[in-house]
Amino acid sequence: MGLKSDTGVNGVRMRPSPNHNERPAGSAIDMLLLHYTGMKSAEEALQRLCDPRAEVSSHYLVEEDGTIWQLVPEARRAWHAGASCWKGERDVNGCSIGIEIVNPGHEFGYRPFPEAQIEALIGLCRDILARHAIPAERVLAHSDVAPSRKEDPGELFPWGRLAAEGIGLWDEPSPISGGRFFQAGDAGQPVEALQSMLALFGYDVSVDGRFEARTQAAVAAFQRHFRPERVDGVADMSTIETLHRLLTKLPSLT
Ligand SMILES: [Zn+2]
Repeated sequence: MGLKSDTGVNGVRMRPSPNHNERPAGSAIDMLLLHYTGMKSAEEALQRLCDPRAEVSSHYLVEEDGTIWQLVPEARRAWHAGASCWKGERDVNGCSIGIEIVNPGHEFGYRPFPEAQIEALIGLCRDILARHAIPAERVLAHSDVAPSRKEDPGELFPWGRLAAEGIGLWDEPSPISGGRFFQAGDAGQPVEALQSMLALFGYDVSVDGRFEARTQAAVAAFQRHFRPERVDGVADMSTIETLHRLLTKLPSLT
């Protein structure tokens, strides 16, 4: 990697990782995937992301004080998503730019993302979105593309704040109230309708009318990103209404 960052953002520091390969021939970068590091410190995360034995990496890492590191050139395929799927695409690394946001995560003491970190992240995301044709609905959480395995960047991540800066798809979630809901073990046509909506949005679920573990994980992932007040995998009215409203905002469906 050269000594110069791909971004126009000032002060980006370079820490080359060997963990990358070629993007698929003819592929375009059309997704931005956000993660948390889930480790005790930034330095520990940087070491792991640059360790050839770990075979993981990301294009960028943003520390809690706002320091930004570039680890892998954007033109290369960094190894951040693992086994993932969105809209049927299973090579998520091949089409995405990955940003690791320093936070101990659910395992080591999940905490709010500091203002300095979010400001730096917003600047970086805006720069990336200005240089690549990445639609708003393809700015995603790791948990969106791997709902059964991942929870990052988690329900404390300020997606609404980013959307106010032009980053990602967002709509104020419908308030939580009573009414019908669907949960693990349920079956039938309404469950199939819910699965159709989740699949249309991009989640990897089977549309078979059975509310099993994979559907539950997708509902929880949707809540973690778009209705973070309650993440329980139960498709209540607030969740369904919020999902429906976001679907109507997708350009392909209008
Ligand atoms: Zn992740």
